[in-house]
Amino acid sequence: MPKVLRINQTLVLPGSRKSVLVAARLIRRGGLVAFPTETVYGLGAAATDRSAVKKIFKAKGRPADNPLIVHVAGLDQVKESAASLPPGALHLMKRFWPGPLSLVLPRSDKIPPEVSAGLPTVAVRMPAHPVALSLIRAAGVPIAAPSANRSGRPSPTSLRHVLEDLAGKIDAVIDGGPCQVGLESTVLDLSGSHPLILRPGAITREQLEAVLGVPVAVAQGCKDGTPPSPGMKYRHYAPRAPLLLVAGARPRRRALLAALARHYRKKGLKVGLLRAPTEPEGLRRAAKRLYQVLRGFDAQGVDLILAEGVSARGLGAALMNRLRRAAARTIKV
Ligand code: AMP
Ligand code: MG
Repeated sequence: MPKVLRINQTLVLPGSRKSVLVAARLIRRGGLVAFPTETVYGLGAAATDRSAVKKIFKAKGRPADNPLIVHVAGLDQVKESAASLPPGALHLMKRFWPGPLSLVLPRSDKIPPEVSAGLPTVAVRMPAHPVALSLIRAAGVPIAAPSANRSGRPSPTSLRHVLEDLAGKIDAVIDGGPCQVGLESTVLDLSGSHPLILRPGAITREQLEAVLGVPVAVAQGCKDGTPPSPGMKYRHYAPRAPLLLVAGARPRRRALLAALARHYRKKGLKVGLLRAPTEPEGLRRAAKRLYQVLRGFDAQGVDLILAEGVSARGLGAALMNRLRRAAARTIKV
């Protein structure tokens, strides 16, 4: 029998069919399993099992009012999770699933309120990763899964990141290599009168508008202090060192970034520099590497991170959203 690798009691499984069956059994018995998706690694539990879902919040240190995304492997499981399908939902699923788009729909009674932090809605997504899809199928139940990091830390995009944060706190993790997208899914709310992007991601506003044929709004923080989506009130994705974001037109932000780097280095600080990509193809690579780079700065013990903003078009909107939320301060030049 091959040696089973455990780190602090957490089973570390290779991405094989056998691993998927072992992990699916753990999920069915109310356990917690981290698994790869194309966006980031997810921390999964049976979405229909109230006490398993509660364990997710405990392992992550996640506030109970921050809802989870339910991961499905087919339309049958969407129908199990959602009470109804608003107009446009099926079109979007056909066009973008499996893929990095979560749809907020009316919640069915089969999904306990704990999954959605008591909201009458539920976010549902079909991930585009063969291990994730076969795990959900083998478990035979939709899987509730937030990102597999300790709350407030950058999301995990590799096995190592999951183990750094959660070894000893979860039953198992399946290795699926590095995540291809590297940023969390686009969250689109279809439960209201107009479609509303709650969180930008790799599926862009322009792509959603092309399928829906209507304008799609992007949620901003509300004036009365209530966030449009519960997760938006938390400062997410934060590295340990403070991050200073420099936004604005390229030549000006580049010049300020270089001047700040010189200034702080002269003062003896260890500075981590995060430059914006120059060509459009580079945006995808920058998104894929963002959390890995932030965690790398933590590991090197940098005192300060200086990050260059990008223009908030297409995937740039998602990248800027994550940078802003990781930033202790943003300077616009
Ligand atoms: P995570 O799984 O860590 O990427 O976080 C999921 C995010 O999706 C949450 O922080 C919320 O902002 C959003 N979300 C999930 N479910 C809902 C819902 N029912 N209504 C509004 N936003 C949701
Ligand atoms: Mg998260």
